[in-house]
Amino acid sequence: MNILTYDIEEWFAEETLYGDRKEKYPEYDQYLSQILDILDEKNVIGTFFCVGGLVPKYDDVIKRIAGRGHEIGCHSNQHHFLNKMSYEEVLADTKEAVDAIEQLIGKKVLSYRAPAFSIGESNKWVFDILAECGIERDASVFPAERDFGGFSNFPSETPCIINHEGHIIKEFPICMANVLNKRVAYSGGGYFRFFPLMFISSQMSKSKYAMAYFHIGDLIPESKSVMTREEYESYFKEKGSLINRYKRFIKANLGKKGAFDKMVSLIGKQTFISLEEADKQIDWSNVKQVNI
Ligand SMILES: [Zn+2]
Repeated sequence: MNILTYDIEEWFAEETLYGDRKEKYPEYDQYLSQILDILDEKNVIGTFFCVGGLVPKYDDVIKRIAGRGHEIGCHSNQHHFLNKMSYEEVLADTKEAVDAIEQLIGKKVLSYRAPAFSIGESNKWVFDILAECGIERDASVFPAERDFGGFSNFPSETPCIINHEGHIIKEFPICMANVLNKRVAYSGGGYFRFFPLMFISSQMSKSKYAMAYFHIGDLIPESKSVMTREEYESYFKEKGSLINRYKRFIKANLGKKGAFDKMVSLIGKQTFISLEEADKQIDWSNVKQVNI
């Protein structure tokens, strides 16, 4: 089973975080159109996790995706990293996003992904909030060390049931591959850009479960230079030293040339389904129960 997911925030993030560059909006529109056309052509339905912050001004983005039959999930409201927020802040953010998206599409929102997979040992209470907001499926667990969250000892790399203090969530963790004795997340982000398509596709072919995850911004060349200290600190909520800023810049831009085409080729090579469809296909009485 291969699941196809996109995290959609670019229009909102451009306005609030990336510098509101006027030329970027039509560019994002055009890449989204291409993605939707390709998925139509291949008869693929995916899950698009959208930030609630798109609803006031960029509702058209979500409507376009929903109109083509894809599942709309929630990717928070403001795209703030959850591990830098309090319980009350995450609760308010999630409620606002779920309400806004549900009102817009006229359908329940049942799937969630945290910005930058920012759930970890320190904020497991996010699962309580998700359950409280009517979320049934989560795709935020990164079963390895990570800067903004991650569970280094998570006992499952395939779909499982998370139980946190009686709150139940169906979890779809990020899938990992063994590379030189290291577990790496090969099906999205920087590693997707770094590894050859052949490697990624063959990993998916031999795995019982895989989940591809993309941001449009991760797949297209970026004209923007290194963030200013102010921009960096407001986005990452950590010290914006020159080293930190350059490290992030290199990480975020490595292998961007050709990444969009690689994503398109992968969709041509593999069969993908949405989280909603995967949920139906899984026999949940037979999966691991994870008490965290
Ligand atoms: Zn995101």
